[in-house]
Amino acid sequence: MVADKPADSSKESKEHLDMLKSTQTVIKKALDKLGYPEEAYELLREPVRFMTVRIPVRMDDGQIKVFTGYRAQHNDAVGPTKGGVRFHPDVNEKEVSALSIWMSLKAGIVDLPYGGGKGGIVCDPREMSFRELEGLSRGYVRAISQIVGPTKDIPAPDVFTNSQIMAWMMDEYSRIDEFNNPGFITGKPLVLGGSHGRDTATAKGVTICVEEAAKLRGIDLNGARVIIQGFGNAGGFLSKFMNDAGAKVVAISDAQGALYDPDGLDIDYLLDRRDSFGTVTNLFENTISNDEMLELDCDILVPAAIANQITEENANRIKANIVVEAANGPTTLEATKILAERDILLVPDVLASSGGVTVSYFEWVQNNQGYYWTEEEVQEKLQKVIVKSFHNVYDTSQTRNIDMRLAAYMVGVRKMAEAARFRGWI
Ligand code: NAD
Repeated sequence: MVADKPADSSKESKEHLDMLKSTQTVIKKALDKLGYPEEAYELLREPVRFMTVRIPVRMDDGQIKVFTGYRAQHNDAVGPTKGGVRFHPDVNEKEVSALSIWMSLKAGIVDLPYGGGKGGIVCDPREMSFRELEGLSRGYVRAISQIVGPTKDIPAPDVFTNSQIMAWMMDEYSRIDEFNNPGFITGKPLVLGGSHGRDTATAKGVTICVEEAAKLRGIDLNGARVIIQGFGNAGGFLSKFMNDAGAKVVAISDAQGALYDPDGLDIDYLLDRRDSFGTVTNLFENTISNDEMLELDCDILVPAAIANQITEENANRIKANIVVEAANGPTTLEATKILAERDILLVPDVLASSGGVTVSYFEWVQNNQGYYWTEEEVQEKLQKVIVKSFHNVYDTSQTRNIDMRLAAYMVGVRKMAEAARFRGWI
């Protein structure tokens, strides 16, 4: 038997601890501004429920390997919790906790009847066979089955998990439950009750935020210069949508480097050549670094890769008029302050990347009613939700004279704090 070592004391753990702390800092500020007592913060600064599980899986070589998995449920005052499950070697408690809080905020911002949840398994799916992944996915569901379900906590895809993994998890849950239960999980294949528009939902949500922010700043998207960091699921679709809207995508990047062309890149060609991990720059010689790319002249900058990219160190050199955060946590709190002082409009992650959970909600609604919507219906509903949420956050930032991140946290936290108060929890 072999045991998979849970990630700890690594650089990643420290980063995730910082991520949790900065989220807690903004939640505290938001609750204070809303006039909630200290008990509200005490309740909302950590998940109300956190489960750690050990999952034995028989590997292809015949040995049993035991994996560590987590499920965090941040707050269920509003309704069932909801959030993705990631498969990654660096997954740890702090990260899963922070991400579950972000899911609560996102659900509050787009006004869904959910609280936030998140799960993860410490593993490297790139080194596992299809059969091993199936065993792990089913084992995880068996281990957490008592605390999840369509009216308790609804998982979804996240980093390195996809619709096939959702299908195995749904099937396992349906076996335990002894009836077909598609509403247990979202991000499923269409034939198993998935929703149209789920794959592109995050990038669509980001696109709508870019459009609304551009209008506010008097920028015509047609011809606007856009830079996108990250060329994976979010960044790839976003490049396509920006290109289709007539914007000039002047630079894109991946983990290997960045490509720049002031006349605009050929996005269709780059998407065609990209590999399944979102890498394309390795095919070119004239690349620049990610750091150089972030500081290039442009109208709109979209970090859509990893955390901590715009920091105290480079925030003064960012030339964009608008920054829209598609990635989770790409701008530090210090950098957020600097951008605000420089009158750069920052659309925060908890608002900009909420398209995914919104269409996940649509999927759950369709599963519950057993009646399915067309692609056009989904897109129309998504557009309405994101536009309304964007302006709700923007108006809060204007009336309170605060940056959009704090405004988004105020909008996001208010609903769960109110629900907890009505329930008599605080
Ligand atoms: P992905 O794995 O599909 O793509 C990630 C991209 O970032 C790849 O192009 C990769 O090469 C690049 N990258 C990795 N390390 C990098 C580095 N050090 N510098 C520059 N680029 C780097 O991931 P994704 O699904 O597109 O997610 C991107 C971000 O958006 C993440 O922060 C994720 O949490 C966030 N997000 C995604 C979704 C979604 O539905 N996909 C939803 C909400 C938030």
